[in-house]
Amino acid sequence: MNPDTFCPCGSAQYYQDCCKPLHIHVDLGDRIADSPEQLMRSRYSAFVLKNFDYIIKTHHPDFLGDLTLAGLHRGPHPHWLGLDVLDSSEKLAIAGHREGTVTFKAWYKLEGEIDAIYECSEFIHQQGRWYYTHGRQMTAKLPSRNDPCVCHSGKKFKQCCLKTL
Ligand SMILES: [Zn+2]
Ligand SMILES: [Zn+2]
Repeated sequence: MNPDTFCPCGSAQYYQDCCKPLHIHVDLGDRIADSPEQLMRSRYSAFVLKNFDYIIKTHHPDFLGDLTLAGLHRGPHPHWLGLDVLDSSEKLAIAGHREGTVTFKAWYKLEGEIDAIYECSEFIHQQGRWYYTHGRQMTAKLPSRNDPCVCHSGKKFKQCCLKTL
């Protein structure tokens, strides 16, 4: 990926200064997400870049369920359009560990339809790093035709992603 490319997570930083260090150091553990929101953003970027290894390694092992590396590679592979982080929080749990939530919309196009994963995700801090555990899904409402596009292009929805369906 071109180092001058903006990070897919929508931070308005270059990928090499944003999610890339987290992606390449996931095994070393010396550059890790320091908040639930940073982990969530880096997981979105990893989905965009099909770095499914990162998805598995940042998903708490007790919560993987049926999720496997092979399954993620199989797809479906939506075309990701943009990420909106709506809310994030972090607190110390009664048990003494840190935990947090991030509410977001991750817009995508799949088989000609635009939709979003609209989720309140939960994260837990264990062994010095943040992990995604699970999330509560909600139904996203598409913007109106004259609203700003979900991909943050600054154009109207009808003149941008809606047009290229
Ligand atoms: Zn990023
Ligand atoms: Zn767009």
